[in-house]
Amino acid sequence: MSRFCVRCGREESDKVKLIGYLCVDCFLREKDIASMPKRISLEVCPSCGSIKLGDAWYSSEDFGNDLRIPISYIVSGRLRSGSDLVTGVRISNINIVKTNERIYAEIEVEGFYKDIKLAKTYLTEILILRRLCPLCTAVKTGSFEALIQIRGFPKLSETKRKMILKYIDSLPQDLKNNISGIDHVKNGINLRMITKKVAENLANNIAKEFKGFISYISEENIKTTSSGRTSRRVISLRIIDLEENEYININGKPYTIEKILDKGVFAKDRDGRRVFISIEELIRSIKVR
Ligand SMILES: [Zn+2]
Ligand SMILES: [Zn+2]
Repeated sequence: MSRFCVRCGREESDKVKLIGYLCVDCFLREKDIASMPKRISLEVCPSCGSIKLGDAWYSSEDFGNDLRIPISYIVSGRLRSGSDLVTGVRISNINIVKTNERIYAEIEVEGFYKDIKLAKTYLTEILILRRLCPLCTAVKTGSFEALIQIRGFPKLSETKRKMILKYIDSLPQDLKNNISGIDHVKNGINLRMITKKVAENLANNIAKEFKGFISYISEENIKTTSSGRTSRRVISLRIIDLEENEYININGKPYTIEKILDKGVFAKDRDGRRVFISIEELIRSIKVR
């Protein structure tokens, strides 16, 4: 004896499959294949567009500026089957729908009853909570954890200064967001950095890029409160910036620079002897001072 859908009365066949007492169409109309949140909230920084997921903030570039990716991440984490009969639920597609005041996500979910594939679309409201991310908060309050002092050896030329600024400008946005300010001082450049960790990485990268080295790192107290001390890390970076015919002093001896190469310089000592001084030797001699 064949079975019928108790709602629409259609008879079970190759085309009309039954789930319990209902055909697939009636089942999908009446039952949920997934339990879907009616509304999810998304914390977005109004200043830089970063989005908070879990405990961390991510640049919107990390998602290719596609809001569907963080939504999919949040919803997937909360997605459950809506019925004992349905297994393997997953999101198959998301469409963002914007009305004048609200943002919705049309979330297409699929799942299985035995080998029958089921699909249903849910509408979830996306509540955008505008909150400044920690980086933008730091920029706004002008606070910074570290200072990179970029100086030259023996001085920082205008050309080198421009090259360094160009390099800084070409850095990935994530890294640039960590720079809370650039100060042009007489003998170099100061970078105010929001976090110590990023400051150290950046200082090392600049050193590598421009034949430089970190000459010292110090901690300077900026505030002492009952809850503890706040210190700022000062990273002093020296960039080797020599010119031909320039006089320099190495290990107490004067030299005239003759030729600058990638790995070092040819220089003439006081007696007119030509010597090769490697970059490493140069750095060592400066560090000894
Ligand atoms: Zn039916
Ligand atoms: Zn931000």
